[in-house]
Amino acid sequence: MHAFDYIRAERVDDVLAALADSNTKCLAGGTNLLDLMKAYVEQPARLVDITHLPLREIQALPEGGMRIGALVPNSDLANDATVRARYPLLAQALVAGASPQLRNMATVGGNLLRRTRCHYFTDIGFSACNKRDPGSGCAAREGSNRIHAILGASDQCIATHPSDMCVALAALDAVVEARSASGVRRIPMDGFHRLPGTTPQRDTELRHDELITAVLLPASPFAERSRYLKVRDRASYEFALVSVAAGLDMQGDTVRDARIVLGGVAHRPWRAKAAERALVDRVLDDKALAAAATAATEGAQPYRDNAFKVTLAQRAVARALREASRA
Ligand code: SF4
Repeated sequence: MHAFDYIRAERVDDVLAALADSNTKCLAGGTNLLDLMKAYVEQPARLVDITHLPLREIQALPEGGMRIGALVPNSDLANDATVRARYPLLAQALVAGASPQLRNMATVGGNLLRRTRCHYFTDIGFSACNKRDPGSGCAAREGSNRIHAILGASDQCIATHPSDMCVALAALDAVVEARSASGVRRIPMDGFHRLPGTTPQRDTELRHDELITAVLLPASPFAERSRYLKVRDRASYEFALVSVAAGLDMQGDTVRDARIVLGGVAHRPWRAKAAERALVDRVLDDKALAAAATAATEGAQPYRDNAFKVTLAQRAVARALREASRA
């Protein structure tokens, strides 16, 4: 690990002052950043320890939404009674992630910024990685790409977004609250994570001088009928090959509104709007499920090792919707 300066911040303003230098990173749970520093993938000149900031509150808002502090541990959020009642989809996604020990350390803000699990990115023995070293190439395109993207990738990068929590937050229309010296910015989840395009080194739209302070959740019509389904190589402590956050707002047997967001298939949580449209005002029968499943992977472009993800995603969408309708 490279040498770095360490600052312990007591106030948000201390952090914002430190973030004026773009070679500073925030340290919260450290479950991703420290691993990447040990592997020489991340080499910040300075770490600002934000664990003492007052950002650990989970607040139920009067109109039915919630405000979740950026430093709330994933396990606390998953076990919060109001979250479980109002957003069971989020609780399911959180407990599907990582391991109990990691969930105790990992924070909401850190999870939003978790970097890809592409093996070529995390191993500096491979020199070609545009995400780690822009302009160097992409070893995964011609290499082992079983875990990589089938949707929204670019010539520059085919990595996938790794978080479960973020897939659920995208389905719940969450908003990320960020502070900088110039004030507070609210970034809808739909626009928080990026597709790789020609700048795969940037995972999110967060600026280097901004600190995530909270996640805001609006009241959700999907509380009663939702399901987070994660398909992975082993039952625990494994990333998603494909995941689905599905939410249904039903009137009798008919779908009033739907949310379908896929994980493990793109550089960001992938909202399947065509699949959602295929369900609205329809009875949720096998025909409607099949139509939504097919629409969910519209435009998919698999690589040598991951064509199986197209079928897997379609089956996962149909199953998640079916289970959500019975919830
Ligand atoms: Fe790097 Fe992205 Fe290619 Fe992986 S897929 S090697 S992260 S550029």
